[in-house]
Amino acid sequence: MYKITNCIKCDLAFSRKQIVNGFGNPFASIVFIGEAPGATENRYGTPFIGKSGKLLRVFLKNVGFTSNLIYITNVIKCKPPQNRTPSTIELCNCKPHLIAELNSINPAIVVLLGATAIRSYFDIYELPFFVSKLAGKFIYHQGRIVFFTYHPSHILQNPDKTLDYYRHFDKIKWIYKQLINPLF
Ligand code: URA
Repeated sequence: MYKITNCIKCDLAFSRKQIVNGFGNPFASIVFIGEAPGATENRYGTPFIGKSGKLLRVFLKNVGFTSNLIYITNVIKCKPPQNRTPSTIELCNCKPHLIAELNSINPAIVVLLGATAIRSYFDIYELPFFVSKLAGKFIYHQGRIVFFTYHPSHILQNPDKTLDYYRHFDKIKWIYKQLINPLF
């Protein structure tokens, strides 16, 4: 299981409380990837346990994705100051950690939560795009199904998107059933 014990590749190393490694089943068939730890994650060292994490877990639980089945991580493993969007340099410095993590888990399905996760995963740092155009869709890329959806913080800020988010998670479950476990 890939775990970062120390990293000083960027300035976030000097403002973080701790590195927030991914969490869940190291052999999971499905991995959810977010942006970066917030204040709660920085304090406790686990991804998605703050406000948006709690919302994400509601959607996961609703379709039966308990933490023994899945793995959750971020493209950036250290909290950016004031929760700002990670810079391109930070994303690039952290990318080898994400690659190593994904190589070790080797999931069949990757779910990208929001624009920053999409940028880092596909190395598209400057390309303008709208998450809303991709959300709810998936592609087959380098041997994996890659599903696009919103970051849960977007749903907290735009509750009118809640129904869409439920539909996205239903679709993710459908893909999981087709690919991994028909009895799920
Ligand atoms: N937002 C993220 O993208 N990741 C976390 O771990 C928490 C909030």
